[in-house]
This record gives sequence, C-alpha cells and structure tokens, in this order.
Amino acid sequence: MTNSLFMRIRDRFPADLSSVLIETPDGKTYSYGDADTASAQIAGLLTSLGAKKGDRVAVQVDKSPEALFLYLGCIRAGLVYLPLNTAYQAGELAYFMGNASPVIFVCQPHREDEVKAIADEQGVAHVLTLGMNAEGSLMDGAASQPSDFAPVACKDDELAAILYTSGTTGKPKGAMMTQMNLWSNASTLEKLWGFKGDDTLLHALPIFHTHGLFIACHCVMLSGSKMFFLPKFDRDQVMALLPRSTVMMGVPTFYVRLLSGDDFTNDVTANMRLFISGSAPLLPETFTAFKERTGKALLERYGMTEMGMATSNPLDGERIVHTVGPALPDVEVRVCDEDGNVLGTDEIGVLEARGPNVFAGYWQMPEKTAEEFRKDGFFITGDIAKIDAKGYVHIVGRAKDLVISGGFNVYPKEIETLIDKMEGVVESAVIGVQHPDFGEAVVAVIVPEEKGGLSEEGVIAAIKSELANFKVPKRVFFVDELPRNAMGKVQKNVLREEHKALFA
Ligand code: ATP
Ligand code: MG
Repeated sequence: MTNSLFMRIRDRFPADLSSVLIETPDGKTYSYGDADTASAQIAGLLTSLGAKKGDRVAVQVDKSPEALFLYLGCIRAGLVYLPLNTAYQAGELAYFMGNASPVIFVCQPHREDEVKAIADEQGVAHVLTLGMNAEGSLMDGAASQPSDFAPVACKDDELAAILYTSGTTGKPKGAMMTQMNLWSNASTLEKLWGFKGDDTLLHALPIFHTHGLFIACHCVMLSGSKMFFLPKFDRDQVMALLPRSTVMMGVPTFYVRLLSGDDFTNDVTANMRLFISGSAPLLPETFTAFKERTGKALLERYGMTEMGMATSNPLDGERIVHTVGPALPDVEVRVCDEDGNVLGTDEIGVLEARGPNVFAGYWQMPEKTAEEFRKDGFFITGDIAKIDAKGYVHIVGRAKDLVISGGFNVYPKEIETLIDKMEGVVESAVIGVQHPDFGEAVVAVIVPEEKGGLSEEGVIAAIKSELANFKVPKRVFFVDELPRNAMGKVQKNVLREEHKALFA
C-alpha cells in the first residue's frame, strides 16, 4: 500500500486541529490546522507552476513557521524538498542548482535578483521568495490556492528530500532521503524519547539541517505537541522560554552558552524533562557542569545527515558521559577495520550502520555511494568509534581527522581530552600537519581561559609526561576561538589549511 510520509505525519495531527503547533517568541501561535491549510495551498501553488512528483524544490530561506509549512507542502505534493544553509553564497548556489537541477528555487526576498540570475544560468524555471514574516511571492501565490490539496501517494523508496551534509570535511554531498528513511527515524525517536501531546519543545536550531528539521519537527508533529520556534539561538530568549518548555534539542555550544551565566539554574530548568545534545561531540566537562547546575543528565545521541539518528543514550536508564549510547531499536551498528572485518568489544575502527533510516545514496554520485556501502548494506559512516561491553558506542573522531605520524595512528580526541582537562583550558583541537620526517606532525590549537595564561612549553611538557612521544604535539597555538560551521562543528580542515606550511 502506498502511504506517503506526508500522509503518515498528517495522520498524527491532533483531532482538534486548533491545537497549537508553533509559538514564536513574540507570542504568535500557529495551529495544526494552519499547517494543514498552508501545506495544501503551497502544494497547490508549486504544482500549478509545473512541479511534478519527484521534482526538486530548493529552499534557502530564514527560519519561520512558513518555511516548515513549505517542507510539508513539498512532501504533500510528492516533491523532493532540498533545504540549503542561508550562509551559502552565489558560487555555492550555482553548484547546488547545477547539481540538483531543482524546478523551483525559493529564496529570501532581498536576494531575489541575485538568485534569479544564477537560476537563469542554471536553467531553474521559477524563483519564489519567502521572508521571515511570510512576505514574498510564495505565500502571496499560495493564498489563492484551495486548502484541500489531495496528498500525492508515494512508495516507501521514493525520495522525500535531498539534504546536503554540513561540509565539515569537504564539499557538501546531497544525501537522498526516502519516504521510509524519514518516517522510520521519526517514529522511532518520537517513541524512544517519550514525546507526548503535552510536551513543548524549545526549538532554537536551524531548519536546513537534519537535526532541526527532521529530528526536532517530526518528534513534535508525530506526538501532536507544540514547539517554541526561535529564529536562532538567542540566550536571553531561551532563558525566558525554558520555564514553559519540557524538551530542548541543541548542539553542544547551546549548552555551553547556557552554562556561561549564573542565571542558568535548576529553578529555570525545573519544568524541563529532557535536554538532548548532538551534531558535534559533547565535552565531558559540559555534561558534568550541566548535571551539577541543573541536576539533569544531558542525553547525547549520534547521527548524520545520511541516516538521521543512529544511536542514543536512553530516556530511562544510564546516560553515560562521553558515549552516544546504544543503537536505536531498528538500527544495527558495528565497528570494522578498513577491509570490513568486524572488530570486537572496545576495539577501535570505523563505525558502520544499517537500517531503514540509512539513505539511498548520494545524489548523482554513484561512485562515491558505492565506496561508502558494504555488500551487506552497511553504510560506512567515516566516524571512528568503539562499542563497549554494554553496547554503548563511543565516538573517537572522524577517519578524515586521524593523524598518522611516523607510521603510528594518532586519535586527536585522546590528546584533546587530556588538554581539555588541564587548568586554564576552555577547549582544544588537535590536527595533523604535513611534516618532512614524520609524514604528519601533531599540532594542538587551544582556546585558553585567559590570554597568556598558558605557555606552549608548559602544555607540551604536561602532555609528554602522560602520552607516548609520537602523540605529543610538535607545536601548540593559542586562539580566541575555534573555527566552527553553522552546526557548531569545529572545522579542522580550516585549521589544517591555516597551518599547512608550518613544517615546510
Ligand atoms: P561533511 O560530511 O560534509 O563533511 P558533516 O559530516 O559534519 O559534514 P553532518 O551530517 O551534519 O555533516 O554531521 C554528521 C557528523 O557529525 C557525524 O559523522 C559525526 O562526525 C558528527 N556527530 C554527530 N553527532 C555527534 C556526537 N554526538 N558526537 C560526536 N560527533 C557527532
Ligand atoms: Mg559527514
């Protein structure tokens, strides 16, 4: 039976469609009925422009309730939703348009002329606009459409979205997400994290990424609950809304920023039942400080664009610091060596995953797709990990960040963990830099608590007494902050580029 992602999500809407789905910081509310009507009208508009089932609709707009309704409108019409980070500039947009050949591009109103020029060159037929306050040709055009657009039937393996990866390690790749990929992960997580109709999610993440769009919004819509929809993470706004919320999803930097002020106390978090962290590694210091301050254990989980979530610490049961928990009930994980031999408990290798959540491949990159899958269907994540005796997964780092110095494997995380524990250190990043003798040399970049508070020699001496010589950084640099992308991930490629001539 065909039963599209949209129909399944729509089936979960509360019987009373006047129930609130979204509340914005200015107190405006949007009901499930509003989402239903707007998605029908948007689906009507897009199809009236000639978009047919399977066509791509690229979207680069600010976060707003209408942006979410646009996603719903696309999947209602069987169109493939393709969200883009608002930070992407002209050259990048040309790449995405050329790569994904969307039939419609929805952009921010102030960029209409720029986007139109690129769209003309790339053969994209229509450009529509959507602003932060619903202004622009998308909602204007949708307003005159009927509000009962019949959802287009889709098979489980047909595409619902193409989501580009964050581009932390290179050019973003378009992950093809099927109807079933998104549905299976959504329904598994909604249950696993105990979402109920009376929950209120504090949503401060961007919605061009799997975390904020699929993980967060699907959990809310499947449980018929409500969310505070913040345009972006604003500490004051988050602090003001926490007492009226029950769940928050964030990247680790959100929690670091909340902890940075003494006003973040267990009074403020008393109403909260769950704080979830992911998209980047959570420092154990943050986990510990959070628990001390609020009495609550952050729930860390792990996933990636290509598969949504794959592992999660439990809702009930032990949340173990520095781990991302066991595999989700419908996902299998294993750790293998480069040749695909499965490794044993606590052995370090590359994490592989298989399940209904794992994507259908990279858009128009059949060779890259073939390289990343084993014959038995396991996806090679590119993350280095180990699985302990309890089945909890520990992420050790990315395969691309592995440093090979003098023929020895060096896992940056081991050194970073040691440095982060030192007095006067906020955080650190360890990278490999080309070296004439060693192939690569270990280099540490540290954010100190105070400028001048630490010395290069001091740090090197401290590490020397703890670790084998080949792991000891040859050089140490101090910086005000580490380069991060929109998802709060440290961009080690930027650091490697900056220091590439160090030993030349
Ligand atoms: P690209 O693939 O373009 O280089 P990216 O891998 O950062 O970018 P995403 O799909 O957004 O793009 O991120 C997935 C990655 O984020 C994972 O492969 C993993 O390295 C990291 N990650 C996610 N959650 C966690 C976590 N809890 N702990 C450590 N790393 C995490
Ligand atoms: Mg990746």
